[in-house]
Amino acid sequence: MKKIIHIDMDAYFAAIEIRENPSLKGKCVIVGGSPNSRGVVSTCSYEARKYGIHSGMSSYQAWNLCPHAVFVHSSFNLYKEVSAQIRDIFYSVTDKVEPMSLDEAYLDVTQNKLGEDDPVKIAQWIKDEVLKQTRLTCSAGVSYNKFLAKIGSDLHKPDGLTVINPEDVQRIMFALPIGKFHGIGKVTAARMKKMGIHNGEDLFKRDLKELIRYFGKAGFFYYNVVRGIDNRELHTSWEPKSISCESTFYEDIGDVDELLQQLRRLCDKLATRMSMKKLQGLNLVLKLKYDNFEINSRSISLPNMTNEREILYQYAEQLLVANWDATRKVRLIGIGVGKLDNQLDGEQISLF
Ligand SMILES: [Mg+2]
Repeated sequence: MKKIIHIDMDAYFAAIEIRENPSLKGKCVIVGGSPNSRGVVSTCSYEARKYGIHSGMSSYQAWNLCPHAVFVHSSFNLYKEVSAQIRDIFYSVTDKVEPMSLDEAYLDVTQNKLGEDDPVKIAQWIKDEVLKQTRLTCSAGVSYNKFLAKIGSDLHKPDGLTVINPEDVQRIMFALPIGKFHGIGKVTAARMKKMGIHNGEDLFKRDLKELIRYFGKAGFFYYNVVRGIDNRELHTSWEPKSISCESTFYEDIGDVDELLQQLRRLCDKLATRMSMKKLQGLNLVLKLKYDNFEINSRSISLPNMTNEREILYQYAEQLLVANWDATRKVRLIGIGVGKLDNQLDGEQISLF
């Protein structure tokens, strides 16, 4: 089982402003545009949240809810600086870090530089270190996949540390309001409520077919996560999203056999590169550039995760034959594979 930690800073921008100006402590602090502008709330302190103020709300509306709130303009460079500091702490634990924003990241600590087995101790260590170095608090979620770690970090904010073990999943998921499911946005949440799905328990009772019928592929994701299943890998920044190679011909090619020969050469090259990098992919892309520089790009799903040259060639050939405008000469061929197995499940995520 993997050990995943999700760290989320508490009221990040507001907390930094309060740190910089301690007289703001205990007040309703709103970072964002001023109320007499068309600005919006970027972040607000927990005191302000008690008045129903939240990120994305217009500053004017926030001021109506809490006229004594203090409005502060954002100091973006400072937020970025502190963010880099926090990331250094993360990277001192593991290289498998997936930053989601300035104040949020997933860490895979299954293997870690602290040599610590217990992910809860690691999460506590990170929280202590963040506090010591930045004088800011964060909340941590510890679990065996990204979804649950993310849910965990949100459960006991601020300054929380929540562990979700397999035996806790059903209890926590059942009680979770549908709008709190990470990956279920406002629109989807509203649709679900219309269908009578108000919390995890309601979602759990729906069968897979029904969810797919209503929500497409995302339905599969919802079906899984409410059961605590989420196989997405961390998407760390240095891992490629796709891998490709291309070749521009010395002379434009108008002969199909010659094109297929070039295509085979490229597939060989790509397959070799993929196996050297231990990458497999699910999607193949063919790019053709014609003699008038017009580019045609087509993709096809591979039958399964692969880096086998014969399979790559077979599908690339199919794309070429189906898409090549034979009245035109080809100047360049490119071939690439995406949806690599090192990635988070891009398909599911892009639906959100
Ligand atoms: Mg946050």
